[in-house]
Amino acid sequence: MPSYTADYLYPIAAEPIKNGIVTLDDHGTIIYIQDPAAPDYTAPATPPEKLGGILIPGFVNAHCHLELSHLRGRSATGKTLLPFLVDVVTLRGASPEEIEATIRKQDRLMWEAGIQAVGDICNQDDTAATKRDSPIRYYSFVEMFDFLQAGQAEASYERYLPAYAAQPEPKSAVPHAPYTVSEPLYSRINALNTGTESVSIHNQETPAEDELFQTGQGAFREFFAGFGASLDDFKAPGTPSIYHALQHMDPRKRTLFVHNTLTAPEAILAAEAWGENGVYWVTCPNANLYIENRLPRYDHFLDAGAKVCIGTDSLTSNWQLSILEELRTISRYQSYVPLASLLRWATLNGAEALQFDADLGSLERGKTPGLLNLTDLTGTTPEDFRIGAGTQVRRIA
Ligand SMILES: [Zn+2]
Repeated sequence: MPSYTADYLYPIAAEPIKNGIVTLDDHGTIIYIQDPAAPDYTAPATPPEKLGGILIPGFVNAHCHLELSHLRGRSATGKTLLPFLVDVVTLRGASPEEIEATIRKQDRLMWEAGIQAVGDICNQDDTAATKRDSPIRYYSFVEMFDFLQAGQAEASYERYLPAYAAQPEPKSAVPHAPYTVSEPLYSRINALNTGTESVSIHNQETPAEDELFQTGQGAFREFFAGFGASLDDFKAPGTPSIYHALQHMDPRKRTLFVHNTLTAPEAILAAEAWGENGVYWVTCPNANLYIENRLPRYDHFLDAGAKVCIGTDSLTSNWQLSILEELRTISRYQSYVPLASLLRWATLNGAEALQFDADLGSLERGKTPGLLNLTDLTGTTPEDFRIGAGTQVRRIA
């Protein structure tokens, strides 16, 4: 049974342990977590392997679009959301062989980068075979949209059903964003999710989104016209877009709001009060910088005690699918966020959001969360540790 120790062990669900020891069985299940300073400590029979830095559980990538992996580098940075979405829709065609090969490659790279589980958005069935073979645990969010065209809702729903059928469990049907889902399509999506699913929705990623819902005007009008979609039947509710989503989604589902770049403190509280089974706030900082050159205000989420998770979004809007790179970006631009918060966002909160927390997300006896070694942090104690330019991750188990 291999044992490991490092300068600090971060169980995540408990305080960091100086020189903490973790012992695993051959299947990666945690047998012991030990504190050498505890009065009842007895050393393992075989001395633990000593590592530098800190030990943490495997990462959870709470928002990805693995099926878009072949689009890496196709859309230029800094274009803002609406031109970016046009690129995604118009550039995504490729040969099945290319799509399959890039999906397989990125699944492997995510595992090597320490990712244990992924919440994956899919519009197609392209990723289903890779997910069945992968050591990564996937939660598939089969995403539907009809560009607010109620008359197209039924046809759109039928078009996405094969992708839903093909994806392995666990899975759910989800709306893409408040600005792309009509009321009848919301009803269809809600009716398809008959159990205790987690669901997700893209939220408040660009100023034009709230403008559409508050005034009915703005850049979305031209965007819709470009897709041949009319806004004639759309009546702006006069609120930011998230309130519209709250009215149409099912409060009994565990709900992941994704991006939240422009979400105000009162909207965070409104969503928290609305959700009956947990509300999670997924941030994808590198994608936000790639597309819109802006980041969420993380202090709003810390102040509200909200549960933040980390996502990579897709390679259409990122340079790599790496949770460490997302944490590095947050540490660079909003360095007040403590390392302990970042690690919880990157592990246990994501595991809870995807309902994998019985096995993943924290170093606890009986779990199989994976084991990562983070080295070259800046600082010397848990109080001043930060992820810096040189911080590295290595998968141990
Ligand atoms: Zn996304």
